[in-house]
Amino acid sequence: MSSGSFASVGLGSKRHRALPIPGASATMKAFTPDSSIASDVIPSPNFGDRNDSRAPDMILLHYTGMPDVEGAIARLCTAGTEVSAHYVVLEDGRIVQCVPEAKRAWHAGVAYWAGEEDINSCSIGVEVVNRGHDWGYPEFPLRQIAAVIALCRGIMLRRKVPSHRVLGHSDVAPSRKMDPGEKFPWHSLANSGVGHWVQPTAIVRGQPLKLGTVGDDVLKLQQGLARYGYGVPVSGTYDGTTMQVVTAFQRHFRPLRVDGIADHSTLTTLQALLANLSPGANVAAAG
Ligand SMILES: [Zn+2]
Repeated sequence: MSSGSFASVGLGSKRHRALPIPGASATMKAFTPDSSIASDVIPSPNFGDRNDSRAPDMILLHYTGMPDVEGAIARLCTAGTEVSAHYVVLEDGRIVQCVPEAKRAWHAGVAYWAGEEDINSCSIGVEVVNRGHDWGYPEFPLRQIAAVIALCRGIMLRRKVPSHRVLGHSDVAPSRKMDPGEKFPWHSLANSGVGHWVQPTAIVRGQPLKLGTVGDDVLKLQQGLARYGYGVPVSGTYDGTTMQVVTAFQRHFRPLRVDGIADHSTLTTLQALLANLSPGANVAAAG
């Protein structure tokens, strides 16, 4: 590389398109990637220190949700956008690091998980390049998923991230976010040791809990979701927030039907997940 505007380590890029370098990054100092499989560093100015020197113990997965990769990387690496992520995983499997893992990247926004609201301080943010629901939502290529798995395995090992803290943006911000969405192959990640997942139980006929339902069964559902980590009111009333949280739960754990209705399959899949947590894994503050 003669331009010197970003560090290219490892993978030769002859058969790849060159990556876009936003103007601001050209003047920023490149750093050594934390992950040995990151092929490029494109430094972003959008980061700060982790509050209370919080050691990250969560991986938060996103999709970029933009029509092209150049625009997505430019947004994450340009001063003033106030967004960033530690890593971007391209569709061809290349991995770009934008923020050092030790620093606090700005990817979660207003969020909550298991008693914490400052998700940026406790997590490592990984943007998976995908146009998202607004732009046709294509399948994630296997080559890209293999790269996500390898990246996450490394982070989990180096940072001691437990399986149940590999999450999607929609899990921690269910009222605002849909990413990485129901096409993201969480089962494939889990088969490779990344993330907590159980085979969802079959969808059968029955009386579901849904918007407006009140009672002990709703209370139990909310308690279960809260115990897993979701930010949900424990009120016994199936309100709009509960519906959004159930929708987020389904996107991640029961993607065959994402409708915000707690049917038998949704309830039993949640129970199976909770039963399958390693003892002492949680964590969640009530409510
Ligand atoms: Zn996101």
